[in-house]
Amino acid sequence: MQTVDYLRISLIDRCNFRCHYCMPSGEELNYLLQESLLTKEEIITLLKEVFIPLGFKKFRLTGGEPLLRPDIVEIVEAINSLPETEDLAISSNAFLLEKFAQPLYEAGLRRINISLDSLNPENFDSIIGNNGRSRWQQTWNGILKAHQVGFDPLKLNVVVIPGVNDHEILDLAALTLERNWHVRFIEFMPIGNSELYSDRAWIPSEEIRQDIRNNWGLETSAVAGNGPADVFQIPGAKGTLGFISQMSECFCDNCNRMRLSADGWLRPCLLNEMGQIDLKTSLRNHPDFNQMRDRVRHILEIKPEINFKERNNGTESGTYTRTMSQIGG
Ligand code: SAM
Ligand code: SF4
Repeated sequence: MQTVDYLRISLIDRCNFRCHYCMPSGEELNYLLQESLLTKEEIITLLKEVFIPLGFKKFRLTGGEPLLRPDIVEIVEAINSLPETEDLAISSNAFLLEKFAQPLYEAGLRRINISLDSLNPENFDSIIGNNGRSRWQQTWNGILKAHQVGFDPLKLNVVVIPGVNDHEILDLAALTLERNWHVRFIEFMPIGNSELYSDRAWIPSEEIRQDIRNNWGLETSAVAGNGPADVFQIPGAKGTLGFISQMSECFCDNCNRMRLSADGWLRPCLLNEMGQIDLKTSLRNHPDFNQMRDRVRHILEIKPEINFKERNNGTESGTYTRTMSQIGG
């Protein structure tokens, strides 16, 4: 059985972007109230009393947009200083990274994954749902700042959507030619915006690889991390390319992670709502840590049955009632 030792911790469900593939078009999301969010102290208590004793030692901070948490640097510092923490990373859209890259690095963070779905400012603004002043330059500056500060590996995540950004695959892959960056192409999942999904569907990683292979050639490679990406490299390139194929290749049997939502729900599988438990209510009402550990231990035992092992062409797209930004992608 796969060891589950990796916890993705959502710090906030809100975001300063509204990427079409992540959030439903038009409708308003019900955001959590401030008092529902786990505080820094509560997160640290849960790690110390529940997750670390059960073997968790790798953590990723996500959201929504985690840099919107005013205490983000303190949270990084606190988790990084736990002696059992083996690995700590953040997922961000980079819009606020120019300001936060240096303090986060000083707080001990070394790994960052950034969403970047387009290199074309107009297309970028359209994907992130922006119709005001362009957000492209500030986002790009955030990425450059993270590079300059020394984040390594610097990973860029691209969700590939037919007719939206598939024409930019070679441009995005070319970012790895001269920079030690890791560009990862992610198959679009039927979660977040079922309308866009049923309209466009997804492109299998192998098709994307073939485009890149036809242009430059491609060899297998490796990169540090905890994820399910298949890693390749353009011959002679400084950086690497990753392919996350959750739609075309089921990797559920190797799943090593669980997710903690910003309001304290522990979720064993991204695509299955079964088996979730509410840790925040237990924590806020005379917590019995033995009992909380037992509940999480039970979820760990039944996780292989909960893992959502079926993929199809999206016909079940109404199934997922929460978006990636709400679950903590
Ligand atoms: N705001 C941060 C960011 O964008 O990196 C962190 C949260 S975001 C929900 C985490 C990841 O989920 C991003 O890499 C995003 O591309 C991915 N994601 C969101 N919706 C998705 C979908 N429908 N299919 C595949 N990936 C998705
Ligand atoms: Fe925000 Fe990240 Fe979702 Fe885009 S993918 S809307 S940046 S949470």
